[in-house]
Amino acid sequence: MSVAPQGRRLLPVLPHGSGHLAPPQPFPQRARAAVADPQLRANIRRATRTIRDKRAAAVSEVDDWEQLREAGRTIKRRVARHLPELLERFERAATAAGATVHWARDAAEANRIVTDLVRATGSDEVVKVKSMVTQEIELNDALARAGITASETDLAELIVQLDDGEQSHILVPAIHYNRAEIREIFRREMADAPADLTDDPAVLAEAARRHLRRKFLSTRVAISGANFAVADTGSLVVLESEGNGRMCLTLPETLISVVGIEKLVPSFADLEVFLQLLPRSSTAERMNPYTSVWTGSVPGDGPSDVHIVLLDNGRSATLADTVGRQALACIRCSACLNVCPVYERTGGIAYGSVYPGPIGAIISPQLTGIAANKSLPYASSLCGACYEVCPVKIDIPEVLVHLRQSGVDGARDRPSAERTAMRTLSWVMSDQRRYENALRAARISTGPVAALTGRGRRRRPGGPAGSLAHLPWPLSAWTTSRDAPLPARQSFRDWWRARDDRPGRSAAPDPGTPAGPPDPGTPAGPPDPGTPAGPPDPGTPAGPPDPGTPAGPAALGSSAGPAGSGSGRPAPSEEHADE
Ligand code: SF4
Repeated sequence: MSVAPQGRRLLPVLPHGSGHLAPPQPFPQRARAAVADPQLRANIRRATRTIRDKRAAAVSEVDDWEQLREAGRTIKRRVARHLPELLERFERAATAAGATVHWARDAAEANRIVTDLVRATGSDEVVKVKSMVTQEIELNDALARAGITASETDLAELIVQLDDGEQSHILVPAIHYNRAEIREIFRREMADAPADLTDDPAVLAEAARRHLRRKFLSTRVAISGANFAVADTGSLVVLESEGNGRMCLTLPETLISVVGIEKLVPSFADLEVFLQLLPRSSTAERMNPYTSVWTGSVPGDGPSDVHIVLLDNGRSATLADTVGRQALACIRCSACLNVCPVYERTGGIAYGSVYPGPIGAIISPQLTGIAANKSLPYASSLCGACYEVCPVKIDIPEVLVHLRQSGVDGARDRPSAERTAMRTLSWVMSDQRRYENALRAARISTGPVAALTGRGRRRRPGGPAGSLAHLPWPLSAWTTSRDAPLPARQSFRDWWRARDDRPGRSAAPDPGTPAGPPDPGTPAGPPDPGTPAGPPDPGTPAGPPDPGTPAGPAALGSSAGPAGSGSGRPAPSEEHADE
C-alpha cells in the first residue's frame, strides 16, 4: 500500500494484463491487409450474415427478451459490486467439494501454475476444451516451451491450430476459412486424415472426429476454461456444441480449469438467465447442445484431480474504471461481432487480440492498459448495432468513446501533428476576418489544382465531386482513407453579399440573424452536391445532407451555398453557384 504526500492512503496500483491482447501493429495497419483480401471478406460476410439472421429469428421467439437482457445486466452488475466476497465464497465452496483453487495475477503466473501441475502428472500431452482465456494467456506456447503438447479439441480451434494460424471469431475461430481451405489443412497437417478426403462438411467432421477420439482415449490431462463459475456451490459451467468438451471434462484423470475472475455468478439460480441468453445470442439455438457442470471431484466419477486457476490479468484494473468495467459482463456470445460493419470487412485477425470485434475493441485495451493498445477503440463506426444485440446490454459505444477520451487525455502533454493542426484551426476560426482570409487563400492556392483535376469529377467511386484523393504528407494522413474536398469557388457569405449588391435588391440581414418570411413564388436552387453543406437558413429546416460528402478538416475550406430548399429565397444564379 503506497501513501500519498499529504498522508492519505492510496489503493494499491492494479496490474494490467499481458498475453495475446495487444496487436504487434496498430489496427489500421492490420485492417488494411485484411480488406485487401477479397476471399477473406467474402468468407466473413457470408458467415456473419447467416449467423446474425438466425440469431434475430431465435431472439424474436422470446416475448420477454428485453426483461431477460435486463436481468442479465443486473446480475453482472451485482457481481462487479461484490466480486471480492463472491470469489472468496467460490473458493470456499470449490475447496470443500474437493477442488484445489489457485490464484494468478497475470498470464505468466497462470502459465507457471498450469505447467507445474501438468509436469506433476508426468504427462507431456494435454487435451483442451475451447477456452478463450487460455488463448489470452498464450498457454499453448508456454506448455510447448516446457515440452508439453496441447491439442485443441474444438473443431474450429483444431483447424486454426493445425494451420498455425490466428483465430478470428469468438464463436467460430475458423470463420475465415472455407471448406476447400480446411480440406487442404487436414491433408497437409493431420497425419491420420484419410487419403480420399473431400471438402464435404460431413466428411471433414468425420476425419476430425476420428483424429480427436484417439486423443481423448490416450491423454490423461485436460485443460478447460469456463463460461460461468457459481459462487454458492463452487461449480464450473462449460457450454459447447460438439460434445468434444464433455469428453475432455470427463475422461482424463486430471482436469485444470483456467477461469477469469469475472465469470462468477452468485447462485445456481442465476444460471437460468444466462442459459437462455447465451445460446440464442451465439448459435441461435433455443437450448445449448452440451452444457457441462462440475463441482470439485467425486470418487469414481470423472477426473479425480481437479484444479481451478482464478485469473486476474488486468480484470481488477478494468473493474476500477467505473465506465469501462461493464465490459467484464461479457458472456462471449459474439453477437456484437456478427453485426459490426467494421468486423464484417476486416475479420477478427486485424484486431490482433484473442478478443476481436466490438467487445475486443473495449476489453483488450482495458486489460492491457490503454497506452499499450491505443488504436483499438477507434476500430468502430460507433453505429450502436453492438449495443442493440448485446444480451447483457453492454453499452459498447459508450465505453469506446470513454477509452478514446482516455487515450487523448493520456497523450495530452505530448506533441502531435493532429493537436497542432487543431490549435491552428481554432486560432483561424476564432476570428471572422482571419477565417475569411484563410478561405480566400485556400481557394486561390487550390485554384490551379481544381482546374487541372476538373471540378465535378469524383476521384473515387462514390466519393464527393471536386475532391482530391491524394495529398502530400502530413495531409496524406487524411487522404489515405478519405477524399479531401476542394474549397468551393465562392463561400456562402460572399454569395450572400454579392446577391444583395445586385441592382434593385435591398440590404439583406446578416446570415446570422433569423430570415424574413419566405418568398413562396421562387423555388430554391439545389444544394451543391460536391461540397459540404454550409449553415442552414436558421429560419427554415435544413435539407438532408449529401451522404456522399464527408465532413472533415478539408471541408473547412469550402463553404457551400445554402443547404436544402424551401427558404423562399432565390437560388444562386449559375455564375454564383459553385458548380
Ligand atoms: S459484448 Fe455482448 S454481444 Fe458482444 S460478445 Fe459480449 S455479451 Fe456478446
